[in-house]
Amino acid sequence: MSAVIEVKEGQDELVSYDPATGAEVGRVKQTSAKEVAEAVARSREVFHLWKKTSFADRKALVMKAREVILAEMDEIAHLISAESGKPFGEAISMEIAPVLDLMQYFARKAEKLLKPKSISIGLYALLGRSSKIVYHPLGVVGIIPAWNYPFSIPLGEAVMALMAGNTVVIKPSELTPLVGLKIGEIFARAGAPDGLVQVVTGDGRTGAALVEAAPDKIMFTGSVATGKKIAEAAAKNLTSVVLELGGKDPMIVFEDANLELAAGAAVWGAFCNSGQSCSSVERLYVHEKVADVLTRKIVERTKALKQGVGDGEDVSIGAMSSERQIAIVEDHVEDFRASGARIEIGGTRNRDLEGLFYEPTVITNAHNDMRGMREETFGPTLPIATFRTEEEAIKLANDSEFGLTASVWTRDYAKGKRVAEKIEAGSVCVNEVLYTHGIGQTPWGGFKNSGRGRTHGREGLMELVQPQHIHVNRVALLPDAWWLPYSPIAVQTFRGFARYFASGSIFQTAKLLPQLWKRIRELMK
Ligand code: NAD
Repeated sequence: MSAVIEVKEGQDELVSYDPATGAEVGRVKQTSAKEVAEAVARSREVFHLWKKTSFADRKALVMKAREVILAEMDEIAHLISAESGKPFGEAISMEIAPVLDLMQYFARKAEKLLKPKSISIGLYALLGRSSKIVYHPLGVVGIIPAWNYPFSIPLGEAVMALMAGNTVVIKPSELTPLVGLKIGEIFARAGAPDGLVQVVTGDGRTGAALVEAAPDKIMFTGSVATGKKIAEAAAKNLTSVVLELGGKDPMIVFEDANLELAAGAAVWGAFCNSGQSCSSVERLYVHEKVADVLTRKIVERTKALKQGVGDGEDVSIGAMSSERQIAIVEDHVEDFRASGARIEIGGTRNRDLEGLFYEPTVITNAHNDMRGMREETFGPTLPIATFRTEEEAIKLANDSEFGLTASVWTRDYAKGKRVAEKIEAGSVCVNEVLYTHGIGQTPWGGFKNSGRGRTHGREGLMELVQPQHIHVNRVALLPDAWWLPYSPIAVQTFRGFARYFASGSIFQTAKLLPQLWKRIRELMK
Protein backbone atom coordinates (compact mmCIF):
# COMPACT_ATOMS: atom_id res chain seq x y z
CA MET A 1 0.00 0.00 0.00
CA SER A 2 1.31 3.37 -0.88
CA ALA A 3 0.06 6.09 1.41
CA VAL A 4 2.01 8.98 0.08
CA ILE A 5 1.25 11.69 -2.39
CA GLU A 6 2.12 10.86 -5.97
CA VAL A 7 2.72 13.32 -8.73
CA LYS A 8 0.94 11.98 -11.78
CA GLU A 9 3.25 12.83 -14.61
CA GLY A 10 1.61 14.84 -17.33
CA GLN A 11 -1.53 15.35 -15.30
CA ASP A 12 -0.24 18.11 -13.05
CA GLU A 13 -2.10 16.53 -10.19
CA LEU A 14 -1.34 15.48 -6.65
CA VAL A 15 -3.27 12.65 -5.08
CA SER A 16 -3.75 12.78 -1.33
CA TYR A 17 -4.09 9.47 0.50
CA ASP A 18 -5.18 8.59 4.02
CA PRO A 19 -2.08 7.00 5.58
CA ALA A 20 -4.26 4.90 7.90
CA THR A 21 -6.26 3.20 5.15
CA GLY A 22 -4.61 3.96 1.85
CA ALA A 23 -7.91 5.42 0.59
CA GLU A 24 -7.77 8.44 -1.66
CA VAL A 25 -8.80 11.62 0.17
CA GLY A 26 -8.78 13.84 -2.89
CA ARG A 27 -6.84 15.32 -5.79
CA VAL A 28 -5.38 18.78 -6.16
CA LYS A 29 -3.47 20.77 -8.69
CA GLN A 30 0.32 20.74 -8.93
CA THR A 31 0.55 24.52 -9.28
CA SER A 32 3.13 25.62 -11.83
CA ALA A 33 5.89 28.15 -11.16
CA LYS A 34 4.14 30.61 -13.49
CA GLU A 35 0.89 30.32 -11.56
CA VAL A 36 2.72 30.77 -8.27
CA ALA A 37 4.34 33.96 -9.57
CA GLU A 38 0.91 35.18 -10.67
CA ALA A 39 -0.50 34.43 -7.21
CA VAL A 40 2.27 36.47 -5.58
CA ALA A 41 1.71 39.34 -8.01
CA ARG A 42 -2.02 39.26 -7.27
CA SER A 43 -1.28 39.15 -3.55
CA ARG A 44 0.88 42.26 -3.90
CA GLU A 45 -1.98 44.13 -5.58
CA VAL A 46 -4.37 43.18 -2.79
CA PHE A 47 -1.76 44.20 -0.22
CA HIS A 48 -2.02 47.83 -1.30
CA LEU A 49 -5.69 47.76 -0.30
CA TRP A 50 -5.43 45.51 2.74
CA LYS A 51 -2.64 47.52 4.38
CA LYS A 52 -5.04 50.46 4.57
CA THR A 53 -7.74 48.54 6.45
CA SER A 54 -8.35 49.30 10.12
CA PHE A 55 -7.55 46.85 12.88
CA ALA A 56 -11.31 46.64 13.49
CA ASP A 57 -11.89 45.40 9.91
CA ARG A 58 -9.09 42.86 10.18
CA LYS A 59 -10.42 41.68 13.52
CA ALA A 60 -13.93 41.29 12.07
CA LEU A 61 -12.58 39.02 9.32
CA VAL A 62 -10.58 36.83 11.71
CA MET A 63 -13.45 36.53 14.19
CA LYS A 64 -15.77 35.57 11.33
CA ALA A 65 -13.26 32.93 10.20
CA ARG A 66 -13.38 31.54 13.76
CA GLU A 67 -17.14 31.20 13.46
CA VAL A 68 -16.77 29.34 10.16
CA ILE A 69 -14.35 26.92 11.83
CA LEU A 70 -16.57 26.41 14.87
CA ALA A 71 -19.57 25.73 12.65
CA GLU A 72 -17.77 22.84 10.95
CA MET A 73 -15.33 21.76 13.61
CA ASP A 74 -15.94 18.01 13.30
CA GLU A 75 -15.76 18.07 9.52
CA ILE A 76 -12.43 19.91 9.62
CA ALA A 77 -11.08 17.55 12.29
CA HIS A 78 -12.03 14.53 10.17
CA LEU A 79 -10.23 16.03 7.17
CA ILE A 80 -7.10 16.71 9.25
CA SER A 81 -7.25 13.17 10.61
CA ALA A 82 -7.77 11.65 7.14
CA GLU A 83 -4.83 13.45 5.54
CA SER A 84 -2.37 13.23 8.41
CA GLY A 85 -3.40 9.99 10.17
CA LYS A 86 -3.69 11.66 13.56
CA PRO A 87 -6.58 10.82 15.90
CA PHE A 88 -9.75 12.85 15.39
CA GLY A 89 -9.67 14.01 19.05
CA GLU A 90 -6.09 15.22 18.67
CA ALA A 91 -7.05 17.21 15.56
CA ILE A 92 -9.41 19.14 17.82
CA SER A 93 -7.27 19.37 20.97
CA MET A 94 -3.92 20.09 19.32
CA GLU A 95 -4.91 21.99 16.19
CA ILE A 96 -8.39 23.48 16.18
CA ALA A 97 -8.66 24.59 19.82
CA PRO A 98 -5.20 26.23 20.04
CA VAL A 99 -5.53 28.04 16.72
CA LEU A 100 -8.97 29.38 17.67
CA ASP A 101 -7.37 30.78 20.82
CA LEU A 102 -4.52 32.31 18.79
CA MET A 103 -7.07 33.85 16.41
CA GLN A 104 -9.08 35.58 19.12
CA TYR A 105 -5.89 36.76 20.84
CA PHE A 106 -4.30 38.40 17.81
CA ALA A 107 -7.65 39.67 16.52
CA ARG A 108 -8.12 41.51 19.81
CA LYS A 109 -4.54 42.38 20.70
CA ALA A 110 -2.69 43.09 17.44
CA GLU A 111 -3.63 46.78 17.51
CA LYS A 112 -2.20 47.20 20.99
CA LEU A 113 0.90 45.14 20.21
CA LEU A 114 1.56 47.21 17.08
CA LYS A 115 0.78 50.60 18.57
CA PRO A 116 3.48 53.18 17.81
CA LYS A 117 5.92 53.35 20.70
CA SER A 118 8.04 56.26 21.81
CA ILE A 119 11.66 55.52 22.59
CA SER A 120 13.74 57.03 25.32
CA ILE A 121 16.69 58.76 23.58
CA GLY A 122 18.52 60.00 26.64
CA LEU A 123 20.19 63.42 26.42
CA TYR A 124 19.04 64.00 22.83
CA ALA A 125 15.60 64.66 24.37
CA LEU A 126 17.13 67.72 26.08
CA LEU A 127 17.92 69.06 22.64
CA GLY A 128 14.20 68.95 21.82
CA ARG A 129 14.31 65.70 19.88
CA SER A 130 11.92 62.77 20.17
CA SER A 131 11.74 59.33 18.58
CA LYS A 132 9.00 56.81 18.03
CA ILE A 133 8.62 53.49 16.25
CA VAL A 134 5.81 52.88 13.80
CA TYR A 135 5.14 49.35 12.56
CA HIS A 136 4.41 48.86 8.86
CA PRO A 137 3.26 45.63 7.24
CA LEU A 138 5.78 43.87 5.01
CA GLY A 139 3.67 42.97 1.97
CA VAL A 140 3.21 39.40 0.77
CA VAL A 141 3.97 36.67 3.31
CA GLY A 142 4.69 33.23 1.84
CA ILE A 143 3.88 30.40 4.24
CA ILE A 144 5.42 26.97 3.62
CA PRO A 145 4.44 24.52 6.36
CA ALA A 146 5.11 20.87 7.12
CA TRP A 147 2.39 18.17 7.22
CA ASN A 148 2.38 17.40 10.92
CA TYR A 149 0.13 20.28 12.09
CA PRO A 150 -1.32 21.10 8.68
CA PHE A 151 -4.12 23.30 10.00
CA SER A 152 -2.91 25.16 13.08
CA ILE A 153 0.59 26.13 11.92
CA PRO A 154 -0.22 27.79 8.56
CA LEU A 155 -3.53 29.18 9.80
CA GLY A 156 -1.97 30.72 12.91
CA GLU A 157 0.81 32.30 10.86
CA ALA A 158 -1.69 33.55 8.28
CA VAL A 159 -3.83 35.19 10.96
CA MET A 160 -0.84 36.96 12.49
CA ALA A 161 0.30 38.14 9.05
CA LEU A 162 -3.17 39.44 8.16
CA MET A 163 -3.64 41.25 11.47
CA ALA A 164 -0.32 43.01 10.82
CA GLY A 165 -1.67 44.19 7.43
CA ASN A 166 0.00 41.69 5.10
CA THR A 167 -1.47 39.40 2.47
CA VAL A 168 -0.73 35.68 2.38
CA VAL A 169 0.15 32.89 -0.04
CA ILE A 170 0.22 29.43 1.54
CA LYS A 171 1.93 26.40 -0.03
CA PRO A 172 0.71 23.47 2.11
CA SER A 173 2.69 20.26 2.38
CA GLU A 174 2.15 17.82 -0.49
CA LEU A 175 0.96 15.31 2.13
CA THR A 176 -1.86 17.53 3.39
CA PRO A 177 -2.96 19.78 0.51
CA LEU A 178 -6.69 19.52 1.19
CA VAL A 179 -6.29 20.88 4.72
CA GLY A 180 -4.35 23.76 3.16
CA LEU A 181 -7.16 24.44 0.70
CA LYS A 182 -9.60 24.33 3.60
CA ILE A 183 -7.82 27.31 5.15
CA GLY A 184 -8.35 29.31 1.95
CA GLU A 185 -11.99 28.25 1.88
CA ILE A 186 -12.52 29.34 5.50
CA PHE A 187 -11.30 32.86 4.75
CA ALA A 188 -13.35 33.02 1.55
CA ARG A 189 -16.48 32.04 3.48
CA ALA A 190 -15.63 34.59 6.16
CA GLY A 191 -15.77 37.28 3.46
CA ALA A 192 -12.06 37.87 2.79
CA PRO A 193 -11.37 39.95 -0.33
CA ASP A 194 -10.34 37.91 -3.35
CA GLY A 195 -6.61 37.23 -3.30
CA LEU A 196 -6.07 38.08 0.37
CA VAL A 197 -5.38 34.47 1.33
CA GLN A 198 -4.31 32.27 -1.57
CA VAL A 199 -3.37 28.62 -1.42
CA VAL A 200 -1.06 27.11 -4.04
CA THR A 201 -0.89 23.32 -3.85
CA GLY A 202 2.02 21.21 -4.97
CA ASP A 203 5.19 19.57 -3.78
CA GLY A 204 8.63 21.03 -3.09
CA ARG A 205 8.82 22.48 -6.59
CA THR A 206 5.81 24.66 -5.85
CA GLY A 207 7.44 25.69 -2.56
CA ALA A 208 10.64 26.57 -4.41
CA ALA A 209 8.59 28.60 -6.93
CA LEU A 210 7.03 30.53 -4.06
CA VAL A 211 10.46 31.42 -2.71
CA GLU A 212 11.61 32.33 -6.22
CA ALA A 213 8.60 34.63 -6.66
CA ALA A 214 10.15 36.89 -4.00
CA PRO A 215 7.44 37.44 -1.41
CA ASP A 216 8.38 39.89 1.32
CA LYS A 217 8.76 37.20 3.97
CA ILE A 218 8.89 33.43 4.08
CA MET A 219 7.54 31.59 7.09
CA PHE A 220 8.91 28.07 6.72
CA THR A 221 8.25 25.01 8.87
CA GLY A 222 10.01 21.79 7.99
CA SER A 223 13.30 19.95 7.95
CA VAL A 224 16.76 21.43 8.44
CA ALA A 225 17.75 20.32 4.94
CA THR A 226 14.86 22.15 3.25
CA GLY A 227 15.31 25.13 5.59
CA LYS A 228 18.88 25.53 4.33
CA LYS A 229 17.76 25.33 0.70
CA ILE A 230 15.10 27.96 1.30
CA ALA A 231 17.48 30.29 3.14
CA GLU A 232 19.90 30.01 0.21
CA ALA A 233 17.25 30.61 -2.45
CA ALA A 234 15.67 33.47 -0.48
CA ALA A 235 19.05 35.18 -0.17
CA LYS A 236 19.03 35.88 -3.92
CA ASN A 237 16.22 38.39 -3.40
CA LEU A 238 17.22 39.28 0.16
CA THR A 239 13.88 37.83 1.27
CA SER A 240 13.94 37.38 5.00
CA VAL A 241 12.91 34.00 6.36
CA VAL A 242 11.69 32.55 9.62
CA LEU A 243 12.76 28.93 9.87
CA GLU A 244 10.95 26.56 12.23
CA LEU A 245 12.95 23.37 11.94
CA GLY A 246 13.46 20.03 13.63
CA GLY A 247 14.00 19.05 17.22
CA LYS A 248 15.41 16.33 19.45
CA ASP A 249 13.74 17.52 22.58
CA PRO A 250 14.94 16.28 25.97
CA MET A 251 12.84 15.67 29.08
CA ILE A 252 14.78 15.65 32.34
CA VAL A 253 13.18 13.89 35.31
CA PHE A 254 14.80 14.48 38.70
CA GLU A 255 14.39 12.04 41.57
CA ASP A 256 12.05 14.40 43.45
CA ALA A 257 9.60 14.71 40.54
CA ASN A 258 6.00 13.59 40.70
CA LEU A 259 6.66 10.37 38.81
CA GLU A 260 3.03 9.63 38.10
CA LEU A 261 2.67 12.96 36.30
CA ALA A 262 6.06 12.66 34.63
CA ALA A 263 5.10 9.24 33.25
CA GLY A 264 1.81 10.58 31.84
CA ALA A 265 3.59 13.57 30.32
CA ALA A 266 6.32 11.40 28.78
CA VAL A 267 3.77 9.09 27.16
CA TRP A 268 1.74 11.98 25.74
CA GLY A 269 4.84 14.00 24.83
CA ALA A 270 6.47 11.11 22.98
CA PHE A 271 3.46 9.43 21.36
CA CYS A 272 0.83 12.06 20.54
CA ASN A 273 0.57 12.61 16.79
CA SER A 274 2.54 9.33 16.58
CA GLY A 275 5.58 11.23 17.80
CA GLN A 276 5.47 13.51 14.77
CA SER A 277 5.66 16.82 16.60
CA CYS A 278 8.70 19.05 16.30
CA SER A 279 8.54 19.35 20.10
CA SER A 280 7.94 15.64 20.82
CA VAL A 281 9.86 14.18 23.72
CA GLU A 282 12.62 12.45 21.74
CA ARG A 283 14.99 11.77 24.65
CA LEU A 284 14.16 11.14 28.30
CA TYR A 285 16.88 11.54 30.94
CA VAL A 286 15.87 10.25 34.37
CA HIS A 287 17.78 10.22 37.63
CA GLU A 288 19.16 6.68 38.04
CA LYS A 289 17.49 6.24 41.44
CA VAL A 290 13.99 6.53 39.99
CA ALA A 291 14.64 5.17 36.50
CA ASP A 292 13.08 1.72 37.11
CA VAL A 293 9.94 3.09 38.73
CA LEU A 294 9.40 5.69 36.03
CA THR A 295 10.04 3.19 33.23
CA ARG A 296 7.52 0.75 34.74
CA LYS A 297 4.87 3.46 34.93
CA ILE A 298 5.57 4.54 31.34
CA VAL A 299 5.36 0.98 30.01
CA GLU A 300 2.08 0.35 31.88
CA ARG A 301 0.53 3.47 30.40
CA THR A 302 1.81 2.63 26.92
CA LYS A 303 0.22 -0.83 27.07
CA ALA A 304 -3.18 0.77 27.61
CA LEU A 305 -3.10 2.92 24.45
CA LYS A 306 -5.41 1.99 21.61
CA GLN A 307 -3.91 2.34 18.15
CA GLY A 308 -6.05 2.55 15.05
CA VAL A 309 -7.61 4.63 12.30
CA GLY A 310 -7.80 8.20 13.61
CA ASP A 311 -11.54 8.49 13.08
CA GLY A 312 -12.34 6.48 16.21
CA GLU A 313 -12.92 8.72 19.21
CA ASP A 314 -11.28 6.17 21.53
CA VAL A 315 -8.13 5.94 19.39
CA SER A 316 -5.02 7.42 21.05
CA ILE A 317 -2.32 6.58 18.53
CA GLY A 318 -3.01 7.05 14.84
CA ALA A 319 -1.06 6.25 11.70
CA MET A 320 2.25 7.79 10.69
CA SER A 321 2.21 10.20 7.81
CA SER A 322 4.29 8.44 5.19
CA GLU A 323 6.31 5.38 4.34
CA ARG A 324 9.45 7.54 4.38
CA GLN A 325 8.78 8.60 7.97
CA ILE A 326 8.03 5.08 9.23
CA ALA A 327 11.25 3.86 7.58
CA ILE A 328 13.27 6.38 9.63
CA VAL A 329 11.65 5.07 12.82
CA GLU A 330 12.46 1.47 11.87
CA ASP A 331 16.01 2.43 11.12
CA HIS A 332 16.49 4.21 14.47
CA VAL A 333 14.89 1.38 16.46
CA GLU A 334 17.13 -1.17 14.71
CA ASP A 335 20.14 0.97 15.55
CA PHE A 336 19.05 1.11 19.22
CA ARG A 337 18.76 -2.70 19.25
CA ALA A 338 22.12 -3.19 17.57
CA SER A 339 23.83 -0.72 19.93
CA GLY A 340 22.73 -2.52 23.09
CA ALA A 341 19.60 -0.63 24.09
CA ARG A 342 16.56 -2.63 25.25
CA ILE A 343 13.10 -2.44 23.71
CA GLU A 344 10.65 -2.55 26.62
CA ILE A 345 7.49 -2.41 24.52
CA GLY A 346 6.71 -1.93 20.82
CA GLY A 347 9.66 -1.85 18.46
CA THR A 348 7.78 -2.87 15.33
CA ARG A 349 5.07 -1.87 12.86
CA ASN A 350 1.60 -2.76 14.07
CA ARG A 351 0.94 -5.87 12.03
CA ASP A 352 -2.73 -6.01 13.05
CA LEU A 353 -3.42 -2.82 11.12
CA GLU A 354 -3.13 -2.29 7.39
CA GLY A 355 -1.92 1.31 7.18
CA LEU A 356 1.25 3.03 8.25
CA PHE A 357 1.14 2.19 11.96
CA TYR A 358 4.18 1.90 14.18
CA GLU A 359 3.66 0.71 17.76
CA PRO A 360 4.50 3.15 20.55
CA THR A 361 7.96 2.07 21.61
CA VAL A 362 9.77 2.48 24.91
CA ILE A 363 13.52 1.93 24.87
CA THR A 364 15.87 1.75 27.90
CA ASN A 365 19.67 1.72 28.21
CA ALA A 366 19.87 4.49 25.63
CA HIS A 367 23.07 6.57 25.33
CA ASN A 368 23.78 9.84 23.61
CA ASP A 369 26.12 8.24 21.10
CA MET A 370 23.29 6.14 19.62
CA ARG A 371 21.82 7.42 16.34
CA GLY A 372 18.28 7.57 17.69
CA MET A 373 19.50 9.95 20.41
CA ARG A 374 21.14 12.33 17.94
CA GLU A 375 19.04 12.46 14.76
CA GLU A 376 15.40 13.52 14.76
CA THR A 377 13.27 10.35 14.75
CA PHE A 378 9.85 11.99 14.40
CA GLY A 379 8.05 8.83 15.40
CA PRO A 380 6.48 7.09 18.40
CA THR A 381 9.70 6.20 20.21
CA LEU A 382 10.72 7.07 23.76
CA PRO A 383 14.37 6.31 24.45
CA ILE A 384 15.31 6.55 28.13
CA ALA A 385 18.79 7.25 29.51
CA THR A 386 19.89 7.86 33.10
CA PHE A 387 21.96 10.52 34.88
CA ARG A 388 23.45 10.99 38.33
CA THR A 389 23.86 14.76 38.83
CA GLU A 390 22.18 17.97 37.79
CA GLU A 391 25.26 18.99 35.79
CA GLU A 392 25.28 15.69 33.94
CA ALA A 393 21.58 16.02 33.08
CA ILE A 394 22.15 19.49 31.62
CA LYS A 395 25.18 18.33 29.67
CA LEU A 396 23.33 15.36 28.19
CA ALA A 397 20.33 17.52 27.26
CA ASN A 398 22.52 20.13 25.56
CA ASP A 399 24.57 17.54 23.69
CA SER A 400 22.57 18.00 20.47
CA GLU A 401 22.60 20.02 17.26
CA PHE A 402 18.95 20.87 18.00
CA GLY A 403 17.38 23.18 20.58
CA LEU A 404 13.65 23.58 20.08
CA THR A 405 11.99 22.71 23.40
CA ALA A 406 12.83 20.83 26.58
CA SER A 407 11.23 20.01 29.90
CA VAL A 408 12.45 19.68 33.47
CA TRP A 409 10.51 17.69 36.07
CA THR A 410 11.04 18.38 39.77
CA ARG A 411 9.07 19.46 42.84
CA ASP A 412 11.83 22.00 43.58
CA TYR A 413 10.72 24.96 41.44
CA ALA A 414 13.91 26.93 42.08
CA LYS A 415 15.94 24.01 40.73
CA GLY A 416 13.50 23.63 37.84
CA LYS A 417 13.93 27.23 36.76
CA ARG A 418 17.70 27.15 37.33
CA VAL A 419 18.10 24.09 35.12
CA ALA A 420 15.63 25.44 32.53
CA GLU A 421 17.77 28.53 31.97
CA LYS A 422 20.82 26.36 31.34
CA ILE A 423 19.14 24.31 28.62
CA GLU A 424 19.88 25.45 25.08
CA ALA A 425 16.33 25.51 23.70
CA GLY A 426 13.81 28.10 22.54
CA SER A 427 11.14 27.00 25.04
CA VAL A 428 11.75 25.13 28.27
CA CYS A 429 8.91 23.95 30.51
CA VAL A 430 9.09 23.04 34.16
CA ASN A 431 6.60 20.24 34.95
CA GLU A 432 4.92 20.56 31.56
CA VAL A 433 5.70 19.13 28.19
CA LEU A 434 5.33 19.85 24.46
CA TYR A 435 2.20 22.01 24.44
CA THR A 436 3.55 25.59 24.40
CA HIS A 437 3.13 25.94 20.63
CA GLY A 438 -0.53 25.92 21.60
CA ILE A 439 -0.07 29.12 23.63
CA GLY A 440 -0.11 31.62 20.76
CA GLN A 441 0.71 34.45 23.16
CA THR A 442 4.24 33.09 23.69
CA PRO A 443 7.17 33.17 21.27
CA TRP A 444 7.99 29.95 19.45
CA GLY A 445 11.28 29.10 17.80
CA GLY A 446 14.50 27.23 18.17
CA PHE A 447 18.10 27.62 19.22
CA LYS A 448 20.89 26.02 17.17
CA ASN A 449 19.69 23.98 14.16
CA SER A 450 16.08 24.12 15.33
CA GLY A 451 15.54 27.38 13.55
CA ARG A 452 15.90 31.09 13.09
CA GLY A 453 13.42 33.76 14.13
CA ARG A 454 10.16 33.31 15.97
CA THR A 455 6.50 32.67 15.31
CA HIS A 456 3.76 33.45 17.87
CA GLY A 457 3.82 35.99 20.66
CA ARG A 458 4.91 39.59 20.29
CA GLU A 459 8.26 38.40 18.92
CA GLY A 460 6.47 36.45 16.19
CA LEU A 461 4.30 39.43 15.27
CA MET A 462 7.44 41.58 14.97
CA GLU A 463 8.70 39.19 12.27
CA LEU A 464 5.71 40.25 10.18
CA VAL A 465 6.23 44.00 10.25
CA GLN A 466 8.96 46.48 9.45
CA PRO A 467 9.66 48.96 12.18
CA GLN A 468 10.06 52.55 11.09
CA HIS A 469 11.81 55.10 13.26
CA ILE A 470 10.32 58.60 13.18
CA HIS A 471 12.65 61.24 14.67
CA VAL A 472 11.44 64.78 15.28
CA ASN A 473 13.29 67.97 16.26
CA ARG A 474 10.64 70.07 17.93
CA VAL A 475 12.89 73.13 18.30
CA ALA A 476 14.43 73.36 14.87
CA LEU A 477 15.87 76.87 15.32
CA LEU A 478 19.62 76.33 15.41
CA PRO A 479 22.06 74.34 13.23
CA ASP A 480 23.45 71.11 14.66
CA ALA A 481 27.00 71.36 16.01
CA TRP A 482 28.14 68.38 13.90
CA TRP A 483 27.20 69.95 10.55
CA LEU A 484 29.70 71.18 7.97
CA PRO A 485 32.05 72.99 7.71
CA TYR A 486 34.46 71.56 10.28
CA SER A 487 37.04 73.72 12.07
CA PRO A 488 39.32 73.65 15.15
CA ILE A 489 36.29 74.85 17.20
CA ALA A 490 34.23 72.02 15.72
CA VAL A 491 36.85 69.40 16.58
CA GLN A 492 37.12 70.70 20.15
CA THR A 493 33.32 70.45 20.44
CA PHE A 494 33.37 66.88 19.11
CA ARG A 495 35.94 66.00 21.80
CA GLY A 496 33.48 67.40 24.32
CA PHE A 497 30.70 65.28 22.85
CA ALA A 498 32.85 62.17 23.27
CA ARG A 499 33.99 63.09 26.77
CA TYR A 500 30.84 64.60 28.33
CA PHE A 501 27.67 64.11 26.24
CA ALA A 502 28.39 60.46 25.51
CA SER A 503 28.72 59.80 29.25
CA GLY A 504 24.91 59.98 29.45
CA SER A 505 25.27 62.26 32.49
CA ILE A 506 23.49 65.59 32.48
CA PHE A 507 26.08 67.02 34.92
CA GLN A 508 28.99 66.04 32.69
CA THR A 509 27.18 67.41 29.65
CA ALA A 510 26.72 70.76 31.37
CA LYS A 511 30.53 71.20 31.04
CA LEU A 512 30.12 71.14 27.27
CA LEU A 513 27.64 73.98 27.02
CA PRO A 514 30.05 76.95 26.58
CA GLN A 515 31.97 75.11 23.86
CA LEU A 516 28.72 74.06 22.18
CA TRP A 517 27.47 77.62 22.10
CA LYS A 518 30.78 78.78 20.58
CA ARG A 519 30.44 76.22 17.84
CA ILE A 520 26.80 77.11 17.06
CA ARG A 521 27.73 80.80 16.80
CA GLU A 522 30.52 79.83 14.41
CA LEU A 523 28.05 77.92 12.22
CA MET A 524 25.56 80.79 12.25
CA LYS A 525 28.08 83.38 11.04
P1 NAD B 1 10.11 19.17 4.60
O1 NAD B 1 11.29 20.04 4.81
O2 NAD B 1 10.29 17.95 3.80
O3 NAD B 1 8.91 19.98 3.89
C1 NAD B 1 8.35 21.13 4.47
C2 NAD B 1 7.68 21.95 3.38
O4 NAD B 1 8.68 22.45 2.48
C3 NAD B 1 6.69 21.20 2.50
O5 NAD B 1 5.58 22.01 2.26
C4 NAD B 1 7.48 20.96 1.22
O6 NAD B 1 6.67 20.80 0.07
C5 NAD B 1 8.28 22.22 1.15
N1 NAD B 1 9.50 22.13 0.33
C6 NAD B 1 10.27 21.06 0.05
N2 NAD B 1 11.34 21.40 -0.69
C7 NAD B 1 11.26 22.74 -0.90
C8 NAD B 1 12.07 23.70 -1.54
N3 NAD B 1 13.21 23.35 -2.16
N4 NAD B 1 11.70 24.99 -1.52
C9 NAD B 1 10.57 25.38 -0.89
N5 NAD B 1 9.74 24.51 -0.24
C10 NAD B 1 10.10 23.21 -0.24
O7 NAD B 1 9.56 18.82 6.04
P2 NAD B 1 8.39 17.86 6.45
O8 NAD B 1 8.81 16.44 6.30
O9 NAD B 1 7.14 18.29 5.79
O10 NAD B 1 8.24 18.22 8.01
C11 NAD B 1 8.91 17.56 9.04
C12 NAD B 1 9.90 18.49 9.71
O11 NAD B 1 9.24 19.69 10.12
C13 NAD B 1 10.49 17.91 10.96
O12 NAD B 1 11.87 18.09 10.96
C14 NAD B 1 9.84 18.72 12.08
O13 NAD B 1 10.60 18.79 13.26
C15 NAD B 1 9.70 20.04 11.42
N6 NAD B 1 8.70 20.86 12.11
C16 NAD B 1 9.14 21.94 12.83
C17 NAD B 1 8.23 22.72 13.54
C18 NAD B 1 8.69 23.89 14.36
O14 NAD B 1 7.86 24.68 14.77
N7 NAD B 1 9.98 24.04 14.62
C19 NAD B 1 6.88 22.41 13.48
C20 NAD B 1 6.46 21.32 12.73
C21 NAD B 1 7.39 20.55 12.04
